[in-house]
Amino acid sequence: MQDARCKIKNKTYNLQLATCNFKGRMLFDVPMKDYTSFKIGGNADVMVFPKDESDLINVIGFAASKGFHIFVFGRGTNLLVRDNGIKGVVINLSEGFKNISWGENDTVVVDAGVMLIELVNLCKDRGLSGLEFAIGIPGTIGGAVFMNAGAYGSEIKDIIEKVEAVDISGKKHSFDKSTLNFSYRKCDIPENMIITKVYLKLKKADMDEVKNKIKEFKDRRKTTQAINLPNAGSIFKNPTELSAGKLIEESGLKGIKFGGAQISEVHGNYIVNLGNATAMDVLTLISMIRDKVFKAKGILLETEIKVVGED
Ligand SMILES: Cc1cc2nc3c(=O)[nH]c(=O)nc-3n(C[C@H](O)[C@H](O)[C@H](O)COP(=O)(O)OP(=O)(O)OC[C@H]3O[C@@H](n4cnc5c(N)ncnc54)[C@H](O)[C@@H]3O)c2cc1C
Repeated sequence: MQDARCKIKNKTYNLQLATCNFKGRMLFDVPMKDYTSFKIGGNADVMVFPKDESDLINVIGFAASKGFHIFVFGRGTNLLVRDNGIKGVVINLSEGFKNISWGENDTVVVDAGVMLIELVNLCKDRGLSGLEFAIGIPGTIGGAVFMNAGAYGSEIKDIIEKVEAVDISGKKHSFDKSTLNFSYRKCDIPENMIITKVYLKLKKADMDEVKNKIKEFKDRRKTTQAINLPNAGSIFKNPTELSAGKLIEESGLKGIKFGGAQISEVHGNYIVNLGNATAMDVLTLISMIRDKVFKAKGILLETEIKVVGED
């Protein structure tokens, strides 16, 4: 049931966005818990699913001109959305940005909304190597570039050639790899860019070799990260040459609960939602971990997940 405030707010967004001829799907008062791997988060005012790049340019240009806050969403697998949700417009590229074009010389051009795992499997079928490490990473290619996602010694930056993006005024940009500064779980793409397309350079390889690598990475995950409750992957970045999970475990924190959230009993760097966790529960555990690990080890852990939305 919507309250009166929501109705007014919806009507305002609806009427205004309708005038910009938006072609995609538009949802109002969207529970972000239904869209994040953590299954946590208050409502977003609006979520739009642009049909293509011109639809995206149209809607963000319009939203920005009205002063609406814009947030780009991938698959919500590295996100903690606060309990009061997201004010403004959430851009979701999962419906209109799904194209994959296979080029010459083992290149592939991928729309930002494509899921990494789907792409890994398509590369396998073509005997293309380079992306196998991403088999267990449940996000989109757009999110993976923004986060410089990685595993088992490889990162997305290793295979990127070029990134295309649109800024929030609707202007298009193209970034060669040499102009993008990647570091651990970070890409220094200018602020307010929406990544729309990614150019990857892979390597021809024996199909069985690619298959075996994927299997090896899957098996490694099964033994170290067998976590069946909703989560957002690693909460903290690993400090240089150290494992955040190990530091948390050695500080005696595994299994500790607060409200509906728990520091995973399987992997110290994961927090799980036991069923009814709030963002505040998770944030309380995060601050407890930072505090206790600092006291026990003298190391201040830095979060890897992005915390967004209203307190
Ligand atoms: C079970 C599990 C295992 C995981 N394992 C790994 C792992 O091994 N390695 C690893 O690196 N990560 C891992 N993750 C974290 C996560 O999957 C990755 O960071 C992933 O790349 C995030 O992609 P997403 O599409 O879900 O982005 P989201 O979580 O939706 O967004 C993350 C950030 O990227 C931004 N963003 C998303 N799309 C775009 C876009 N098109 N343009 C601009 N900005 C954008 C968002 O604004 C946000 O700031 C794991 C997560 C889970 C739940």
